[in-house]
Amino acid sequence: MAPNPTPVATRRSGRRLGQHFLNRRNILERLAEAACPGPEPLVVEIGPGRGALTEFLLLRAARVVAIEIDPRLAESLRERFRDVPGLTVVEADVLKSDLSQWGPAVVAGNLPYYITSPILERIFALGPLLRRAVVLTQREVAERLTARPGTRECGYLTVVANLFTAPEILFPVPPGAFSPPPKVESAAVRFTPRPPAPDLAAPAAFLEFVGRAFQHKRKTLRNNLQPYYGKQAAAWPEARLRAEQLSVEQLLDLYRRAAPADPAE
Ligand code: SAM
Repeated sequence: MAPNPTPVATRRSGRRLGQHFLNRRNILERLAEAACPGPEPLVVEIGPGRGALTEFLLLRAARVVAIEIDPRLAESLRERFRDVPGLTVVEADVLKSDLSQWGPAVVAGNLPYYITSPILERIFALGPLLRRAVVLTQREVAERLTARPGTRECGYLTVVANLFTAPEILFPVPPGAFSPPPKVESAAVRFTPRPPAPDLAAPAAFLEFVGRAFQHKRKTLRNNLQPYYGKQAAAWPEARLRAEQLSVEQLLDLYRRAAPADPAE
């Protein structure tokens, strides 16, 4: 008897939720090994789907907390791993979840690409609780995350990633490794935490500054920052450059010099 076709509603919501399931064992093994090069007490997996990566993470970590938004997938995960100790399935939206609640953790996942940036920002916000992160992203995003300053790919996310971690592309993943195949190429990226800049007491304030500096990517720093920092912005030696041309350290240096504008300016 032919299997029941997937109902249209399911196919639609699957696409909406970025559901592209990995089907290559060697890629799953490499991801799990990169996430857990040795035994780990805890991995938080984002978007476990049907559990393809979860299975390999459970071989390497004492505990896996898997956050899945789709109730049917969460239920079938519980069923599939019923007899395997160490898995906690959390049916939730990762963007509404407090990732710090489980303490220090490795974060792993084949991310839903439609919300890659906000997920990454949440991972970086873990600060010292982040042991390491290994995720699959769209290849263009991976290239942006690891871009050198001065290149077109460099953007807000590049600065955030490099402020908190050392990001590196591990290997490319072709569309054929997923079912259904996505329209884009993918890449595995590892983020190794690095200590924050020594005198950066409030990273959030610096990130707000960076967001302003990159507000209109093709505009100069003077044009982007003058509305916030007044006439001093025109006098900065970097005024004619674009934010993408500065390294994280240079942006930090400028941030320390930038005093909020006098409202009268
Ligand atoms: N890890 C699985 C694999 O590799 O086969 C599935 C990866 S699939 C690209 C992304 C998964 O993230 C899907 O299972 C999807 O339902 C889930 N997802 C999408 N949006 C989510 C959200 N906001 N919070 C948690 N999970 C989400």
